[in-house]
Amino acid sequence: MNTKTQNNNSGKRLVILGGGESGAGTAILGVKEGFEVFVSDKGKIKEKYKSVFEELKIDWEEEQHTEAKILNAEVVMKSPGIPETVSIVKQLVAKGIPVISEIEFAAAFTSAKIIGITGSNGKTTTTKFVHHILKSAGIKAGMAGNVGDSFAKQVAETTPDWFVLELSSFQLDGIKDFRPDISVLTNITPDHLDRYEHKLENYVFSKFRIAENQTEKDFFIYDLDNEIITRWLEKNPVKAQKLPFSLQQKVENGSYIENQNIIVNIKNNQFNMPTTKLGLQGKHNTKNAMAAATVSQLLRIRKETIRESMESFQGVEHRLEKVLKINNVQYINDSKATNVNATFYALESMESETIWIVGGVDKGNVYDDLLPLVNEKVKAIICLGVDNQKLMQNFGNCVDTMVETQSMKEAVRMAYSLAEKGNSVLLSPACASFDLFENYEDRGRQFKEAVRNL
Ligand code: ADP
Repeated sequence: MNTKTQNNNSGKRLVILGGGESGAGTAILGVKEGFEVFVSDKGKIKEKYKSVFEELKIDWEEEQHTEAKILNAEVVMKSPGIPETVSIVKQLVAKGIPVISEIEFAAAFTSAKIIGITGSNGKTTTTKFVHHILKSAGIKAGMAGNVGDSFAKQVAETTPDWFVLELSSFQLDGIKDFRPDISVLTNITPDHLDRYEHKLENYVFSKFRIAENQTEKDFFIYDLDNEIITRWLEKNPVKAQKLPFSLQQKVENGSYIENQNIIVNIKNNQFNMPTTKLGLQGKHNTKNAMAAATVSQLLRIRKETIRESMESFQGVEHRLEKVLKINNVQYINDSKATNVNATFYALESMESETIWIVGGVDKGNVYDDLLPLVNEKVKAIICLGVDNQKLMQNFGNCVDTMVETQSMKEAVRMAYSLAEKGNSVLLSPACASFDLFENYEDRGRQFKEAVRNL
């Protein structure tokens, strides 16, 4: 990383597999850096990206992979959505051609410092949190990941001092030299195991690649309360300076809670702030805030600025998003909760009796951890999915009222009729959305619309 280009890439053949956001961004950067670029996508390419390729005057194809045009690459950028097991990727690897991810490719062409954020849950929230604080402090910072322009495009077109990057394990799978100056690992819970041969250790290994190239000069911020992380660290130490955060124990260097205050202590330089002042509620968000505050403290941002930004940060759409209060009932959109762990934190943060809308495509969920919370906080369950049998089996005995619905409108109307003054209605599905919706955003938007139309 940070090896500025010498412009010695002239004519080198860069093949981009996947013509989406990261593919288009890589094409823009590749052309700027003098590569001969070819884009190939097995599916259809969106019009907006086709016009990018046309404008760049590069060769591209869709709905096929022409081997002769791909296997002669000097370097290949594979979009994170393409599994390593597809034939063309296997052939490239067999030929010894480097297959890398967009972040690996782009990081070589920026001298900005990098904050990389990964984890099973909380990536987007923590990324936006950190970016919000940096911006408030007047730092020239770019942000990339799930939303907005790709990292590669921003590297081609902007020159910030810092990049805040949300990194999926798929992005990390394609790195070689990528080295963030500061890395954050929010937590690890089993997810996406289908892409990791159903082996947790493969997934954990992949997440830890964020620290793989870090040196003693760099920093590694992580959740000390997460056993998967701490057990891994015992056997696989990282070189970077460790700054853990914990809700449960005091740490010497890192972040902890004392008398309802977040404390960040780095080499005796201390930041503190009452948790009650945080703009975002829920224990998981306290953790995200601790991670963000630790990053900010490392950047020596004024403590008053950190405090103010932590108070003003309002979170991200579809993540425990407060929609409306109707008849003193709070409606909350947590559509992004596509796994059990995210829903665990949502239920835990509920402060009033809750009508819980749950369901969708089950990814092999184990619901045991939710049972105590459901018993304590949930008064009625509304299943929203094509197949609700597993939910019925798991939670049927916890609540008096459990109903099945097949559309968001119906689910929200049902919630409205069940809710009493002071209750909350929480959409936190713990499942993917593809049975009834296009994606989680569509599900969240339909929820909000149905609530607004009540
Ligand atoms: P990601 O980008 O990793 O998917 P998001 O910030 O989009 O994470 O949040 C996804 C879901 O997880 C939301 O339901 C959110 O409320 C919940 N969540 C956010 N932070 C955490 C955390 N630290 N631990 C567990 N769940 C979290």
